[in-house]
Amino acid sequence: MNVDVVIAGAGPNGLMLACELSLAGIRPLVLERLPEPTEENRANGLVGQVVRMLDRRGLHRRLSGSPEPPRPGPSFVFGALPLDLSVLEDNPLYGLPVPQRRIEQVLEERAVELGVEIRRGHELTGLTQDDDGVNADVSGPGGPYRVRARYLVGADGGRSHTRKLAGIDFPGVTRDDTVHRTAQAVVPAALVDPATGGLDVPGYGPIPPFQHHRTERGMFVYAPFPSRPSLVGTTEWPTAGDSEEASDAPMTLDELRLSVRRVLGADLPLTPPDGPGPHMLRRMVGGNTRLADRFRAGRVLLLGDAAHVHSAMGGPGLNLGLQDAVNLGWKLAAEVHGWAPPGLLDTYESERRPVAERVVMQTQAQSALVAPGAEVTALRALFAELLADRDAVRRVAELMAGADIRYDIGGTHPLTGRWAPDLTLDTGSGPVRLATLTENARPLLLDLTPDASLAGALSGWQDRVDAVPARVPEAASAVHDRAPVTALLLRPDCYVAWASDSPNPGADERTALRAALERWFGAPTSR
Ligand SMILES: Cc1cc2nc3c(=O)[nH]c(=O)nc-3n(C[C@H](O)[C@H](O)[C@H](O)COP(=O)(O)OP(=O)(O)OC[C@H]3O[C@@H](n4cnc5c(N)ncnc54)[C@H](O)[C@@H]3O)c2cc1C
Repeated sequence: MNVDVVIAGAGPNGLMLACELSLAGIRPLVLERLPEPTEENRANGLVGQVVRMLDRRGLHRRLSGSPEPPRPGPSFVFGALPLDLSVLEDNPLYGLPVPQRRIEQVLEERAVELGVEIRRGHELTGLTQDDDGVNADVSGPGGPYRVRARYLVGADGGRSHTRKLAGIDFPGVTRDDTVHRTAQAVVPAALVDPATGGLDVPGYGPIPPFQHHRTERGMFVYAPFPSRPSLVGTTEWPTAGDSEEASDAPMTLDELRLSVRRVLGADLPLTPPDGPGPHMLRRMVGGNTRLADRFRAGRVLLLGDAAHVHSAMGGPGLNLGLQDAVNLGWKLAAEVHGWAPPGLLDTYESERRPVAERVVMQTQAQSALVAPGAEVTALRALFAELLADRDAVRRVAELMAGADIRYDIGGTHPLTGRWAPDLTLDTGSGPVRLATLTENARPLLLDLTPDASLAGALSGWQDRVDAVPARVPEAASAVHDRAPVTALLLRPDCYVAWASDSPNPGADERTALRAALERWFGAPTSR
């Protein structure tokens, strides 16, 4: 065996998995086809629970450039309908406007810091597997070679070669009836509303910033980022023979200007940004919504876009993929270390597939809500009425954040199976955020009982699970739906494997705790 885990693809999800494996004591080998990081700009930011998850690995401050913890935004959009998040007491929809290139750079720096070997210019070209491992055929600058690994993870994007080599189907739909055009461009200062940062387009009217804006003829977006060129974009649904049908020629600013005129019915002058280019000029025809029919074939697993692709509306891609990586990392490491309980690795798919299905559902729903036509306009009117209701806002916000996930973990406490809430704990040396305690990605038993009486229950698991005796302020103990909590067993992905609300957990609860420890972290070293 040359290496424990080969990861094909140094995109954000492959790099995140490499970091997670390293934190769990495994040294993966990352193969990346491209000799240099790509200049292509895809995501403009992170949306949802992933922002808090990155905080729980110490990565939020690297991305935001500030030691401040993440904060949710006051508003967002769903299917180009405004979501007023200020009505929610506990708004789950966090955002971090960092371009994908920067996210990849930070993840790569972290992976290298943790000792990960990343081979750029090395492409996975073939694979075979047997009961004990995977042979990965690689084409590198020095010629072809073979690596043998215990496992191989395909994080090689939507067109995943790994997926094809492993014989995994990718069912779903491919649409070719939309044309998206996006460019980095400057609009005349006189059209920018200083109060909102949005536009006031003569002949059309006000357009808020950073929001998809639907008209009867298409969709428009204007995103004036503070420290990089603004983005202007349109989406159209051309029909055969329409003059707005996309050609194969490279996109131009003039093409976008004409598209804006069709969508808004008004002119918006556009000029290229100052400074060195190349500036983004992108035309994308159609889109795919597809979900791999298996996330695992023997010792080969799929991660991120290799496992699922969908519309980018609302920016759910990295929320899904990076948390796939956090789910997979510790489980794969447990297999390699040899302490994984039976079936642990299969919970990667049983837990993450339903999450991907919800992303497919909500992005398709958003795509339906922005399409042209009077029926859609009527549907939007109804949806807008529903979104005046706070419970509906909460439901949509949790859906978009991926915060409505409850894994099938069992247990009676309302927190089991859920992502652990943010807590500030008193561990005897001043207040400490839970996010700080989870940075090394170790399983944790948070013992909040008055006499820290649970540590003994960890006997046999201390090599894998850390006990943290702590206090929480009164108000924070009612953390979820007013459910008091006195102890939490957290998996490395911060999902709650067991919880108690008893100030003095009795024999039954200790038995349940030990059962949870065995279920997720394997047999104790001694009985
Ligand atoms: C226009 C657009 C806008 C988007 N906006 C957002 C957004 O705002 N927010 C958001 O969260 N998401 C957004 N997304 C989605 C997001 O960009 C993807 O979900 C994300 O890039 C997926 O990461 P990945 O690591 O799975 O795959 P990729 O980023 O595709 O990386 C795969 C890597 O594998 C490498 N590779 C491929 N084949 C091989 C091989 N055989 N051997 C070795 N290496 C290989 C590739 O070179 C690449 O580096 C957007 C996507 C698009 C297209």
